[in-house]
Amino acid sequence: MSMAGFFGWNTRTGELTWSNVTYEIFGFDPGTDLVLADVYKRIREEDVVLLRQALDDPADKEEGPDLRLRLTLPGGNVKYVRVRAHPERRDPSSGQYVGVAMDITSSALSELELNTSRQELAQKKRPGPIGEVGAWVAHDLAQPLSSIVMNGQACIRWMSMGTAGTEEARSCVQRIVSSGYRATDIIQQIRRLASGEKPATAPIFINELVESTEALLGETFEKNHITCTSSLAPGLPTISGDRTQLQQVLINLLNNAVQSLADVGDRKRKIFIATRMSEGKELLVMVEDSGTGFRVQDLPLMFSPFFTTKADGMGMGLAICRTVVEAHCGRLWALNNTRHGATFYFTLPAAP
Ligand code: ADP
Repeated sequence: MSMAGFFGWNTRTGELTWSNVTYEIFGFDPGTDLVLADVYKRIREEDVVLLRQALDDPADKEEGPDLRLRLTLPGGNVKYVRVRAHPERRDPSSGQYVGVAMDITSSALSELELNTSRQELAQKKRPGPIGEVGAWVAHDLAQPLSSIVMNGQACIRWMSMGTAGTEEARSCVQRIVSSGYRATDIIQQIRRLASGEKPATAPIFINELVESTEALLGETFEKNHITCTSSLAPGLPTISGDRTQLQQVLINLLNNAVQSLADVGDRKRKIFIATRMSEGKELLVMVEDSGTGFRVQDLPLMFSPFFTTKADGMGMGLAICRTVVEAHCGRLWALNNTRHGATFYFTLPAAP
C-alpha cells in the first residue's frame, strides 16, 4: 500500500493546508508553516519545472495535474511521489486546488531496477558491422536526401511546362541546393562529434532555431494532417553551440512526434513546441505530441542506440539527440502525457 496524504493549496493566497501524512511524505514536521518555495526545495529541479508548467498550463484543464515527482530529503534520501491535484469544483475561480500525494518510492525503485537490467540486456544486442557512426550518418542524411529527390522530381515536372513553370522550377533548385548544404553540414558535424571534438560555439537564438525547424518540416506536418503550434518565451538569452547539431535534435524529436501520430484517428493530431527559461541559467525546450506515447518500461532503453519499436526504425534518433544535448552540457528526458502522447524535454545552458 502506498502512503497517501491530502493537501489544499490556494494559488491566489499561496495558503497551503496539509494533512500530517503529506508533511511526513515531504519530510517536514507536521504543522510547520510552509510556503511553496520550501516545498520546491525538496523537489528535483527538472520536476519543479514540470510542476510549474503543469500549474501554469495544465494539459487537462478539468482534471488538473497528475505528476510523478522525485524528492531529495534532508540527509539525501530520495523519494518518489505521485501528486494529483484538481481545481476546487464548487468554485473553480477561487484558485483553490485540492489533491493527494502518494509515496510510491518502493514501486518506482523496483521499476527502476527492472529497467536497469533490461537496459544491460539491450546493450549486449547492439549490431556490429555498420557501427553507431555509420547508422548516425544514414539516419541524419535520410531527410535532406529525400528532400533533394522530391524537389528534383518536382523541378522536372515544372520544367516540362516550359516558361510557365520557370519560377517554381527555380525555387525547387534553391531547395535542392540548401538541402545539399545541410547534408554537407551534417557530415561535418558528425565527423566532429564522432571524433570527440567539442561542438562549435556560435551564439544561437533558440526561438529562431525552433521557428526555422518548424518551417523546414511544414510540408511533413501538412502531409500528415498535423497542427504544429508553439509558445516561445520572449527575451530568452542566447545559447552557445552548433546550430546544425541542435537543429538535428529538433528534427529528430519532431519526426518522432509525427510518427507517433501516424495511427491517431480519434483525436486531433497535434504537436506543441515550447521554449522557456528553466531554473538557474538554463533554457528548456519541450516537444509535446498527442500521439500514442511510449511504454513506460521502454523509457530507459529509448535513448540507447539501435533501440526501436518501429518496424522500419533505426533506433538512432534519440541516441543522437542525447549525445548532442549532452555535448552541449544539457539534459534530455521524456515523459508520457497524462492523457495522450509524450513530451520530450531538453535543457541547454544560457551563453555566459
Ligand atoms: P526510431 O525512431 O528509429 O525508432 P528513435 O531513437 O528516434 O528511433 O526512437 C526510439 C524509440 O523511442 C521509438 O522506436 C519509440 O518507441 C520511442 N519514441 C520516440 N519518440 C517517441 C514519441 N514521440 N512518442 C512515443 N514513442 C516515442
